[in-house]
Amino acid sequence: MKKTIKDFDLNNKRVIIRVDFNVPIKDNKILDDNRIVMSLKTINYALDNDAKVILMSHLGRVKNEEDKEKNSLSIVAKRLSELLNKEVIFINNTNGVELENTINNLKAKDVLLMENTRFEDLDGKKESSNDNKLGKYWASLGDIFINDAFGTAHRSHASNVGIASNLPSGVGFLIEEELNSFQVLNNPNTPYAVILGGAKVSDKIGVINNLVKKCDYILIGGGMAYTFLKALGYNIGNSLFDSDSINFCKEMLDKYKNKIVLPVDSIVSKELGGDIELKDNDKFLNDDIGLDIGKKSIKLFKETLEKCNTVVWNGPLGYSEIDKYAAGTKEILKCLSERERIVIIGGGDTASAAINFGYKDKFTHISTGGGASLELLEGKKLPGIEVIDDK
Ligand code: AMP
Repeated sequence: MKKTIKDFDLNNKRVIIRVDFNVPIKDNKILDDNRIVMSLKTINYALDNDAKVILMSHLGRVKNEEDKEKNSLSIVAKRLSELLNKEVIFINNTNGVELENTINNLKAKDVLLMENTRFEDLDGKKESSNDNKLGKYWASLGDIFINDAFGTAHRSHASNVGIASNLPSGVGFLIEEELNSFQVLNNPNTPYAVILGGAKVSDKIGVINNLVKKCDYILIGGGMAYTFLKALGYNIGNSLFDSDSINFCKEMLDKYKNKIVLPVDSIVSKELGGDIELKDNDKFLNDDIGLDIGKKSIKLFKETLEKCNTVVWNGPLGYSEIDKYAAGTKEILKCLSERERIVIIGGGDTASAAINFGYKDKFTHISTGGGASLELLEGKKLPGIEVIDDK
């Protein structure tokens, strides 16, 4: 078990909290402040316990000087100040005398936000390559380090692994909740189903390999279903096809044919956004593109899921950003919300779909980290969490 923020005496301590303030920004406006809102629990806990709070986060990618302006966290500082209803001291630098002096003069219950950690990437990718000196330097600014940025926990950066290697460390409430939720999958209520969708089989090979042995069913939809259907000999027309993964699909279908559930029909178009038709697997023409699972597949998926008491889902079942291809994803979300059971939604597009289609509070857990949740499902250890002190 990893230490959490609750395991520390924070009184008057300089507490560095690595948060995820990587929010979408357009024309100098924050389009969605959910990530800032979600960090409040940990920040408020630190404030209530009289910490001097030092916040660090990345925002976008910083490859050249021009990227600095559009990726400044100054706008986030303003929003955070509104949400906390108190002053947030913003330092528009990631090192130097002003940052150091301001931190030295912090009082208990003060909040400081440092500029985007990735500004250090301009100098030889120091943040993203976990430069030793940078991690040590940032650690020297605090007494305790709390990691609450799940979305970057699968990366070894100076602002997570680097600092944690040099300070007493714990996780914040967000990461604690993510870990507890995924932990449930080590001991699922059976039958246990995994739903996989999204674009490419190759991105999900690790997940399939890890989970196929543990689960009772793997339901496959989205673009990746068509490589499996091709492996069975179907003409998939112009649907997404991952030629490098065809042998893997054949092997899985051989070994686990009783567990793998594939679509039997699809919504197809001749081009993305074009007119739609419903077609069985054996009716595809060469110019058809499969863009969602069809009605019979929805029924088949529902029948399988109705039996299941634990479900984990990563990847939408169709091109759900366009409404005419979203029915499969919507129907399965609805089905899963209809009775009590463990449902864990992996991050990224699946989490966005669940939230956008109105299922924000309907499941056991919706993960906040796409890459990080995928790596947990692959059974990998996350470096940003491994480095944290054990209890
Ligand atoms: P991933 O990041 O692998 O989970 O892929 C998510 C993306 O896959 C989303 O942008 C979906 O729109 C896309 N996707 C889902 N189903 C299909 C499909 N049948 N054809 C093409 N793209 C799809």
